Amino acid sequence: MIGQEAPERRAANDADFGAGLAQPTAPNGLATLRTAHTNRLSAGEIQSLNERYAPLDCEERIRQLYRDFPPEKVLVTSSFAATSAFFLHVVSRVRPEQEIAFIDTGFHFPQTLRYKAYLTDLFRLKVFDVAAPPAAHERTAHARLWEADPDRCCAVNKIAPLEAIEPDYQVWISSLMRWQSEHRAGMRIFERRRGILKFHPMIDVTREERDDYIRAHHLPFHPLVLQGYASIGCTHCTVAGEGRSGRWAGKPKTECGLHL
Ligand code: SF4
Repeated sequence: MIGQEAPERRAANDADFGAGLAQPTAPNGLATLRTAHTNRLSAGEIQSLNERYAPLDCEERIRQLYRDFPPEKVLVTSSFAATSAFFLHVVSRVRPEQEIAFIDTGFHFPQTLRYKAYLTDLFRLKVFDVAAPPAAHERTAHARLWEADPDRCCAVNKIAPLEAIEPDYQVWISSLMRWQSEHRAGMRIFERRRGILKFHPMIDVTREERDDYIRAHHLPFHPLVLQGYASIGCTHCTVAGEGRSGRWAGKPKTECGLHL
């Protein structure tokens, strides 16, 4: 067994949010975040969060998030892709007990699964897998849906499994950075997407800053990076290439849909 087992998770409802936790005394109207359902945060409150977090660096932002939100209501996902070691190293330093969700599409490279096991052991992560029901996944595999309808394939194998657990959480941290794609270039630190509050603490980290961090901490890259893969997803939809050019190559699709 690699790493540690994630403790049993339970579904939450609005009444559970922040129960038993001390309330912060922020003077800026955000003091209710630990009890408020973030679906009810106004555009102005999200704007206030963006302004308050903007001067902080990515590690300080993550530390602050755990002060503003109940830690058990924070969802962290990782694809254990090219440079996930950077994000996971920061998160595991800030909150070692944080659970990490891995969306298991069933189509990952064996190298990704080995990298996942390696990082889980290295950082002593608590990783849990989320996946489509076996029958639904099998139907996509049988139909080779990534060829005929990749949006539908991602919807079944990535988006639906994540949406099934989203109601357990108030805020979702992901490691997107603006330089990664045109779509991501317009993202902010906090924004509501598909009904959940997204938190992008690394959105303004440059590629050079990320690589400097990786080198300074002697972190391992995904094994396929050495073979020219700059971005790594499922085997059927990933080839070697710069940036995200190797994802859904030859198709208009550029995002799996999780971050749209
Ligand atoms: S990335 Fe490709 S194989 Fe993976 S879920 Fe999406 S369409 Fe299917």
